[in-house]
Amino acid sequence: MTIASRIYSLAVLLLLAGCASPPPPTTTETSPAPAPQASATEVRAVWVSDTTRLNWDTATAALQRAGFNTMYVNIASGGAAFYPRSAVLPSVVSKDELERGIQLAHQRGIAVHAKFIAAFMFKVPPSFQQQLTAANCVSRGPDGRPVLQNGQTWLCPSQKINRGLITGAIRETLARYPVDGVQLDYIRFCEQPSCFCLHCRRQFEQAVSAQLKRWPADVMSGAFTSRFIEWKQQVINDWMRECHDEVRKARPGLPISAAVFGEIARAREEKAQDWKLWLDRGWLDYVCTMTYTAPLADFETRVRGQRETVPGQQLVVGIGSWKLRELADITAQVEIVRRHGAAGFAMFSYDDFAGRNVLPSVR
Ligand SMILES: [Zn+2]
Repeated sequence: MTIASRIYSLAVLLLLAGCASPPPPTTTETSPAPAPQASATEVRAVWVSDTTRLNWDTATAALQRAGFNTMYVNIASGGAAFYPRSAVLPSVVSKDELERGIQLAHQRGIAVHAKFIAAFMFKVPPSFQQQLTAANCVSRGPDGRPVLQNGQTWLCPSQKINRGLITGAIRETLARYPVDGVQLDYIRFCEQPSCFCLHCRRQFEQAVSAQLKRWPADVMSGAFTSRFIEWKQQVINDWMRECHDEVRKARPGLPISAAVFGEIARAREEKAQDWKLWLDRGWLDYVCTMTYTAPLADFETRVRGQRETVPGQQLVVGIGSWKLRELADITAQVEIVRRHGAAGFAMFSYDDFAGRNVLPSVR
């Protein structure tokens, strides 16, 4: 018996002990309530961060045993392709593990969704970073310097040539690999104040038909602040739509999702990530909300808020399992997701589980 099922049995015993009369045999009280489904099965997913180091055989076997049915696997970022011979991005691997890996996953009943880290240039080779910085393609802060995260740059989302790197990688991936879905991640501006590059300035001035005297002060705290936020949302909306069009053109009907900040007001305001609009327009089939918090009450409050924003079938709740040391704490969050009728959950990350040599049972 797994720890999770032991805990569950105990919970059932306590529940029954508290009942005035025993529940009828057909009641759902004695078994975990399955989440309402958009498809036939609940989404029980993990994110794979470093695909270049993934042992597909070990991973898919362990995930199958634990009851997972979906992997969201990083395929490319704004600075690198994690598959060989890309014509649009520098490939950082030479051996093609993906085709065999996807085949193994499918044999074990696991869907593989290709994830694209849109704006962040995760694992970018230094030469490509220098090249894009010199070409003024990277996001810049108020001082005009490139914004950096762990030494890696971000693509400026307002430049069509940059957005084309991701749509190009989507096109390549869908032409080569039998993936079961596409997921966009980091489809937003960097959380550091940005982007104030020359291109963004020109585009924004054109959009508002004005020449700004104090750049970037006018858009950071001046008269154009809210219009700059709206303009940034428009830029990211365009990118999302372009990615959607690319997927639909190549593989109509393939599920499209995005990893997003769960609280819609903050996602719009702080990240230019209007995911509710993306769902309403049909550019996304569902969102994976990054609900990375350890305290259970806080987690439940956030999930409730997300369910008030979208129907359950459009919601896969992201669980920050790396923050939870005990497997029982992870299982407790899964139970909350099920109770609130979401389509499923995704844990961040398989890499963390593999490092700790643990995997919760989610059957
Ligand atoms: Zn820019």
